[in-house]
Amino acid sequence: MSRFNRRVEHLPPSGIRRFFDLVIDAKDIISLGVGEPDFVTPWHVREKVFYSLEQGRTSYTSNWGILELRQETAAYLNNRFGARFDKDEILITVGVSEGVDLALRTILNEGDEVILFEPTYVCYRPLTELAGGVVVPVSTPSLKMTADAIQQALTPKTKAILLSYPSNPTGYTIDKAEIKKIAQIARSRDLWIISDEIYAELTYEGEHFSISAIPDVKDRVILLNGFSKAFAMTGWRLGYIAASRDFLQQAVKIHQYAALCAPIMAQYGALESLRYGLGEMQEMKKSYWRRRNYMHEALNAIGLSVNKPEGAFYVFPSIEATGKTAEQFAIELLQQEKVAVVPGDVFGRGGEGHVRMCYATDFNLLKEAVKRMDRYVRSLKK
Ligand code: PLP
Repeated sequence: MSRFNRRVEHLPPSGIRRFFDLVIDAKDIISLGVGEPDFVTPWHVREKVFYSLEQGRTSYTSNWGILELRQETAAYLNNRFGARFDKDEILITVGVSEGVDLALRTILNEGDEVILFEPTYVCYRPLTELAGGVVVPVSTPSLKMTADAIQQALTPKTKAILLSYPSNPTGYTIDKAEIKKIAQIARSRDLWIISDEIYAELTYEGEHFSISAIPDVKDRVILLNGFSKAFAMTGWRLGYIAASRDFLQQAVKIHQYAALCAPIMAQYGALESLRYGLGEMQEMKKSYWRRRNYMHEALNAIGLSVNKPEGAFYVFPSIEATGKTAEQFAIELLQQEKVAVVPGDVFGRGGEGHVRMCYATDFNLLKEAVKRMDRYVRSLKK
């Protein structure tokens, strides 16, 4: 008998971690590796939480989260994205990470299939497998999710489609027309749609279109969002699920046993962000937008070709012209020029031949990183 759970034993460690363990001791590196805002949480949010602590707010909250935050979240989703949720359709979670886990564990039975577009964020596959599900990966040459790609992956065992847009690692989003077609597939095949829209606010081309805003699929959408990225609150560990009451009645059972509730301090911080933080969020977005434009132009100019990312704070250029694998490119760039990027293959199918760079980094450092990458790419041509 094994001492450990077999599924856990079979899980590979995160590819991003594995790569950064190699580089942890390197000094003076410019890191474009970690996907985290370079802003600290705005001052008024921190101050509000100091005050809530001063008032002695240190208890558990309801399993569902504090009522005002659920009300404010429902209003925010409606105002920003036309997604009509009631406060009873909101569950406050420990980051979107817990939301993904709850969504998968609540709907999957052994052997159920989840269609997942790759390359994608690293937690979906392991959490699906831990929940007993099977990932059916799909990819396209454009690295953009299409309804056709999903159509081809459908089987009688398909239980859910997992969407994540704008995407980590590509920064691409899903076009509105495709989203509508995907909704149609889900309806006709009676599927769940898990939609991680954590980068919704960081959309630079047009408006973000949430699949939960389509009324006749809303009941099958499990919308995940949170405060880590757009509100610069990664360390607070706060997110939410917006979904139908019958789904949440099941999901909250896992949440109440495994997490009990999200931290009360973080909930008050998030409430302040939603009430008074949207202006600062727009300022941070402008700053990412400028850096996105710069990286898009600069990388193409040095021969690392890439389409303009439409959202998030990542750029995912092709490194095929260099003749290196993604891992070779990342290791050599780090060793020779001290710039850290993430090899694209850690994000799954279709990621090989690319590297991910996070541009939520000081502008001057980005310029220096591009200069160094240029030097490295030129050195390969000699
Ligand atoms: N979803 C995506 C697409 C992400 O990129 C990340 C973090 O990088 C997360 C979820 C995790 O979010 P949270 O900090 O809310 O757990």
